[in-house]
Amino acid sequence: MEALNQILFALSLIAPSTTDPATLVKSDNVEVAGPTKEVAKEVLSAAEAIRKKLAIEWFGRELPRGVGYCAITVELSDQEQRCATWQMERDGCTYQLVRLKAPRADLAGSPLVHEILHVLTNSQFPQGLPAWANEGVACVAEDKEEFYCRRAVAWFSKTGNWPRLKEILEAEHISENEHKRYWAAASLTRYLLVRGDRQMFFQFASAGKSDGWNNALRRYYAVQDVNDLEKSWQAWAVEGLQRETKPLVPSGMAPNEQRVSTVPAN
Ligand SMILES: [Zn+2]
Repeated sequence: MEALNQILFALSLIAPSTTDPATLVKSDNVEVAGPTKEVAKEVLSAAEAIRKKLAIEWFGRELPRGVGYCAITVELSDQEQRCATWQMERDGCTYQLVRLKAPRADLAGSPLVHEILHVLTNSQFPQGLPAWANEGVACVAEDKEEFYCRRAVAWFSKTGNWPRLKEILEAEHISENEHKRYWAAASLTRYLLVRGDRQMFFQFASAGKSDGWNNALRRYYAVQDVNDLEKSWQAWAVEGLQRETKPLVPSGMAPNEQRVSTVPAN
């Protein structure tokens, strides 16, 4: 059912053709269709700045003009946040479509950062990153990621209900609705980025997908196999909880408040 929901939501991305051209704004790298031209301009400006910042942070350089061109459709909603990035082939070209459905105040923030990083990784790894790495780096790039990640790890630790890393590494798809796997992927990504730099992380993720995870672990991180990785990751994650003294409820958020649902796509 989850897969069907993903497909239906992704298909709804092919809606920009119904957008009023009067609200469409474009640059060399991004086009945005918004409910108003003012909103579209605001998102376009934010997307360009985020694209530049993330490219330097994650790939060490600005991307050439037009690389990773994406079309963003914006919908305002006070009740719901749903975001996705979707690739579509047409006439031999790959187009990246992004849908942002979020409150006005959040449009240029965390959800846009998450989706733009998907756009960049899709453009740099056309063969596709493994699902856990794709979601992991997008989560780590978000400013809100650490809180949710810590809360998930606290739950794993308290209940002993840790997800198996083998299943996460080999998953074909991971969505935010699969909380255990999604936040474990984010935590694992953060752990590997402590053990090595971003370039090593991407090399490992690509090699593991093609050559097997045990081989890639030995080559890049001097870790014997996935079982050893699982043990060292869990120990690091629990140690992080003990080091961090900030409460697991950020200011302004009720203790039982859940992160609004988003539907990330690969
Ligand atoms: Zn995502």
